[in-house]
Amino acid sequence: MSLLVVGSVAFDAIETPHGKVEKTLGGAASYFALAASHFTSVRVVAIVGEDFTEKERRVFRGRRIDLDGLEQAPGKTFFWAGRYSQNMNERTTLATDLNVFGNFQPSLPDAYRDSSHIFLGNIDPTLQLSVLKQVRRKPHVVGLDTMNYWIQGTPAELRETLRHTQILMINDDETRQLTGEHNLMRAAKHIFKMGPRTLVIKRGEHGALMVHDKFLFSVPAFPLEEVHDPTGAGDSFAGGFMGYLAEAGKINEKTLRCAMVYGSVMGSFTVEKFGVERLAKVTRKEIHARAKRFSRLTSFEL
Ligand code: AMP
Repeated sequence: MSLLVVGSVAFDAIETPHGKVEKTLGGAASYFALAASHFTSVRVVAIVGEDFTEKERRVFRGRRIDLDGLEQAPGKTFFWAGRYSQNMNERTTLATDLNVFGNFQPSLPDAYRDSSHIFLGNIDPTLQLSVLKQVRRKPHVVGLDTMNYWIQGTPAELRETLRHTQILMINDDETRQLTGEHNLMRAAKHIFKMGPRTLVIKRGEHGALMVHDKFLFSVPAFPLEEVHDPTGAGDSFAGGFMGYLAEAGKINEKTLRCAMVYGSVMGSFTVEKFGVERLAKVTRKEIHARAKRFSRLTSFEL
C-alpha cells in the first residue's frame, strides 16, 4: 500500500502560554507525513521556496518519507503565524503569507501515480481534485480535510471533490457549516449523500468522533498534564489515521477504530512540544505504549 499526501509545507511562528518560536517547520503536510511515516511510507506533494534549506529537509530524512514531489520554486515558503489564548482553546491567526503556495499546481511524479491511499490536505478543492485526476488507478481510500474558507468560497468545487472522497476529516464547526445542520448526526447523513461514507469529526481537546454509515466510534484526547503547542494536532491525527489504514491494507470496522486511536495517539504527541519537535523524536515503542494506554483508558465491562 502507498500513501500520498498533498498539502502545505510551511514556516510557522507560534506563540502559546508556554513560549514562542519565530520560524519553525510546519504545514499540514509536514505534520501528516511525520506522523504517518511511523506506520507506512509517505509520498509528499507540496511546494516550498528558496528559503527552504537542507536543515528543514533533514527533519524528513531517515524516515519513510519521499520528497520527490516536494517542488522548490523561486520565492519564499508559505508562512503562517498564530497565537493561542491563555487556556489554548482559541487561536488567533496573525499572518498567512501564501508566497509560493499561492501559485501551487500539484504535479505528481510518475512513481506517485499508483498511490493506493491519498490524503487531500486543506487546499483549494480544485487542486485536490487535480491530484486525484493524476492518479492512474482508482485509489482504495481518499481522505480529505477542508476549512471554512473553501466551504464558503468554492462550494461547488468542494462538492465535486467530495464525490471522490471516502473519509472526510473536519471539525464540528466545519461539519455544521458544510451541511447547514447543527446536529452532528443529521449533518453526517447529509455528508454521506455527498460521497464520503465515513465522517471523522476532530474536536481538539474533546477527542474525535467517527460517524460511519454502519457504526459510531468515539475516542478522547489523551489526558496530558502539559500541552505546549496545539498546532498541527489535527494534521498529525490525520497522518496517524491514514498511515495506520494504509499499513493495515484493508478498511473495516476494526481497522477504522484502530485508526482513530492511532490518530489520537499521534495528535497527543505533537502537542507535547512546539512544532514538529516531539513528532520527529517519538519512537514506535512509545506510540504503541500510548495506544495500549488508550485501550485501558476507554475499556469497561457491562
Ligand atoms: P492545525 O493546527 O491542524 O490547524 O494546522 C496548523 C498548520 O496548518 C500550520 O503548520 C500551518 O502552517 C498550516 N496552515 C495554516 N493555515 C493554512 C492554510 N490556509 N492552508 C494550508 N495550511 C495552513
